[in-house]
Amino acid sequence: MVISISHSVVAYVSLLWFVSGTDGVPDPTQRDLLIRQEVSRQTGGRVTLTAAEQKLDAYLHLLKEQEMSAAQFPPAIHFFKAKPLIQKSSIFKLLQKMPKGAALHIHSSALVSVEWLVKNVTYRPNCYICYTWDKSVRFLFSTHQPFPRWDCFFWQLLDTLRAKTEDPVGFDNSLMQYLTLVTEDPDSEYPSQDVVWKKFEKAFLAAAGLISHAPVLRDYIYKGLEELHHDNVLYLEVRSGLSRAYELDGTIHDKVWTLKTFQEVTKKFTADHPDFLGARIIISVHSAAVKEAIELQKEFPDVVAGFDLVGREDSGRSLWYFREALSLPAELSVTLPYFFHAGETDNEGTDVDQNILDALLFNTTRIGHGYALAHHPLAKELSRNRSVAVELCPISNQVLKLVSDLRNHPAAMLMSEGHPMVISSDDPSVFDTTGLSYDFYEAFVGIGGLKGNLGSLKELALNSIRSVLLIFISLSLCFDVTIDVFVFFTKYWKIPSLRGRQNKLVSSSA
Ligand SMILES: [Zn+2]
Repeated sequence: MVISISHSVVAYVSLLWFVSGTDGVPDPTQRDLLIRQEVSRQTGGRVTLTAAEQKLDAYLHLLKEQEMSAAQFPPAIHFFKAKPLIQKSSIFKLLQKMPKGAALHIHSSALVSVEWLVKNVTYRPNCYICYTWDKSVRFLFSTHQPFPRWDCFFWQLLDTLRAKTEDPVGFDNSLMQYLTLVTEDPDSEYPSQDVVWKKFEKAFLAAAGLISHAPVLRDYIYKGLEELHHDNVLYLEVRSGLSRAYELDGTIHDKVWTLKTFQEVTKKFTADHPDFLGARIIISVHSAAVKEAIELQKEFPDVVAGFDLVGREDSGRSLWYFREALSLPAELSVTLPYFFHAGETDNEGTDVDQNILDALLFNTTRIGHGYALAHHPLAKELSRNRSVAVELCPISNQVLKLVSDLRNHPAAMLMSEGHPMVISSDDPSVFDTTGLSYDFYEAFVGIGGLKGNLGSLKELALNSIRSVLLIFISLSLCFDVTIDVFVFFTKYWKIPSLRGRQNKLVSSSA
């Protein structure tokens, strides 16, 4: 606090001196000082770089200049068209190698690449498919021909269907189309937010029958962690509605089973990959089932990180509508950290736009998206003062039509002010991404522009780790998870992680 007050005094005094002290050409020394002061306010502006890191930073700057002057600048165009360009980018290749901290905003139903769902899961025995009237599909694993349902009259065994097709690759690609938003011409295919959200929701319905099959779910969680680990992500907080898993014989498991399965798979994964720090669930549901979340957290304090409400904000209920239910933890004097989606809208002044301030009034730990935050000066101030990080998911915001050219994303303003922020991927499978590198690229190159530097990258990764530590500490005051805090700290400081691997990154780029 003392540092920030003295910093603002220095900035204010020197600015005054500059404004009142010029008569003709401004003093270049003062100009340099002001530029440096402004840069120091941005995300990572206070991070001190080593000599080797400064060399890497200069190299990154050069690469950025080259990519910005190319005929097509990836962040300025739709991600589905930009993806092949990004894959060729030298900056992207470096970002893939960089340790990116924790992935803090991913939905469990969109965690694993569609490629794996189609090429692995749909090839398993007893998998049935049904084409629905609204041009979607449903999958179901069953030992017998499934009964017709209201949304599905005719189920076909995928093995039989595949045997009949002359083009198995084309057939698999057609299945992938149902599970993602990917299209060659996104602008004409999705003329409005309503249209894109309808297809978005259909993709989740299509994937549900595959993911919620109990044996698949185990592999799915493991594969999801593997894809993140492969992209140098060290930790995951996944949003999940804990949908009920089913067995081949029709047995339906409860939410406790899903949490236990998640716990077991995560334990196995961290045992197999000791440099991975772990994973937790943020219970995310469409209604304010806070009481149930409190009970589940009590039973699984090492798995449940907290609670969120999900669904399209613009067509759903506002947080204020659920104020009674959301006040329950405070009334019962229990800690249930909130991680609200808030401000994922461009409709200023609506009830939903107000979610940003309400999320803060309910002491949210982070703000999911916070796209509207830049328009709420008071909420912005509160979130900054309380270190409530914004979970920035640039590709999601672009694909779901809040912004087209990512250079115009409101987070550019937040980054230039050093607002607490983490980068995440929201629904990677639906947007056809894996890991966090694609979103880091868009944030670093598009939103951060030429000013974003290696310090910004370090700060973004470190912010995510800090956020996880804060939750551990707050939960350890209520539950017996002190051991987790200890393990987390030890692993974080012991592994080469952000220091060692950063050095590797520096040397590999030299
Ligand atoms: Zn989300």
